[in-house]
Amino acid sequence: MSVPKIFLLGIDGATWKVVDRMIALGLMPNTERLIREGTRGILNSTIPYLTPVAWSSMLTGVRPSKHGIFGYNVMENREGMIIGLLANRSKIKTPTVYDMYHQLGKKIISLNMPMSYPPSPDDGVVITGLMTPSRESTYFYPDDLIDELTAQGIDYRIDITVAREGEAGLDERIRLYLADGARRFFEDLRHVTEEREKAVHYLLGSKEWDLFQINFVSMDRIQHYLWDHIWKDGPDSVVLERIKEHFAYLDEVTGKIYDKVKNEALLLMCSDHGFGDCKGNFYPAVWLKQNGYYTEMHSELTPGLIIKRILKSLRLSKLLLRFLERSGKTVAKKLIYIGTSNVSWKKTRAYVYSTAGVRINVKGRDQFGIVQPGEEFETLREEIRQKLLAITDENGQKIMKAVYTAEELYGSTCPDESPDLFFEFKDDQFYTTYYAVTKSSVFLDKGYAWRQGDHRQDGVVLLAGNGIARGKRITADIEDILPTILFIQDLPLSENFDGKIMKDAFTDEFIQKRKPQDKQFFERGEVETPDGDKGDEVIDRLKGLGYI
Ligand SMILES: [Zn+2]
Repeated sequence: MSVPKIFLLGIDGATWKVVDRMIALGLMPNTERLIREGTRGILNSTIPYLTPVAWSSMLTGVRPSKHGIFGYNVMENREGMIIGLLANRSKIKTPTVYDMYHQLGKKIISLNMPMSYPPSPDDGVVITGLMTPSRESTYFYPDDLIDELTAQGIDYRIDITVAREGEAGLDERIRLYLADGARRFFEDLRHVTEEREKAVHYLLGSKEWDLFQINFVSMDRIQHYLWDHIWKDGPDSVVLERIKEHFAYLDEVTGKIYDKVKNEALLLMCSDHGFGDCKGNFYPAVWLKQNGYYTEMHSELTPGLIIKRILKSLRLSKLLLRFLERSGKTVAKKLIYIGTSNVSWKKTRAYVYSTAGVRINVKGRDQFGIVQPGEEFETLREEIRQKLLAITDENGQKIMKAVYTAEELYGSTCPDESPDLFFEFKDDQFYTTYYAVTKSSVFLDKGYAWRQGDHRQDGVVLLAGNGIARGKRITADIEDILPTILFIQDLPLSENFDGKIMKDAFTDEFIQKRKPQDKQFFERGEVETPDGDKGDEVIDRLKGLGYI
């Protein structure tokens, strides 16, 4: 074996806190063996540690300041409306692993990677993941791939249903989904995962590949809905039994995949972020409003009025205009509701911009800016930072761990469309941010009964196979994944990378055998959202997971 293949096993939301607990209970023997024989570590996610932001760094080897994804939406300030268009691959500004492998003449199989939608025919064998609008969109290549899987008896799904069917409101649908010991949820989860596993084994045996990448979403979904159950003492509840059963099943999946590929490939297992509990919801727009930084107009903004205003805006793409015209009020309302607000710009000095960000309304930069750049901007930003840091809960406990300026996080390369401040909660005072909520009377509340866990920065990484150091512990950053993959396969690195090669994970012998790492320029391949794509299904899915 001169140049090994790579199997990248993405386990969305995996954290050692939970995996180690399951290993200690004897439920994950395969993972335990891989840890013993390989190298494990903490994989620090991006800030903010949200799925689309983190996977964009994984797919590009660069930090958010370069790829330009800061949340579930890419924000645009148009004609006095803040519009949050759904983040997807067409918004990533830098070349992705798909572009690089195509330009290097190498082959990828990629299943369910978040932010890989929309795909390109040049990607190889690809089925896209989170942020895919619906099964009506072009979400796979080659054209006959899903038919081929169906002919093998595989019922491939992009994600669990998150209780999308039925007439009841979201809370009620999720309550039913999680009723009876979360029976329907676990059945759904198991079905989606089993079919995906079948697809892996079929494709491993029938297609050529240099890099095989897949993302399993079970851990993320279990931990969002049922985090508290994992830690309950006393006799196991039905829910905890089902959680354990699913973790044991995932371990079996990992073991089977590893045994199948280990003679020709290295296994690189990783998660996009870690996990922890959450205390409730935080509404930053309400906080800004109560502190006098953000003002809304008195008139209620109706969907009809919103559409009218949007249509008036000549700066919007023709594609979006056509879509809004065709799609009718309901869809249009859902699409633009996110991040849309009825802002009184003349009285607004700061507003919410993306999931964990605040933006100052700067003259000359923001469309209706009123804050002078320079000293006025700096003073105001520092004032808001200090006030955010001072926020306390009902018991007088501070909730913020840190508030960063864009330059502190990303250096001078931060683009103009980034938030100016990013906030991060304390580990034991964690709140889920709902940035589109402006109408609440409080900025902190207990949140949803069905949402028990939320993301943390510490994801996992585990490498195993020939050439990987035995029993080693490392710490790495999520943007290190792609440079490390290219290093393993003796391929040139991008001159644009922020990430580094995880050299500590390899034996000296393996490193000595690698070619010197050339750097090269990669082209960003064009991907376009196909005309007529609807965002409503992905919005429902994100809402059902408590993301927006
Ligand atoms: Zn995730």
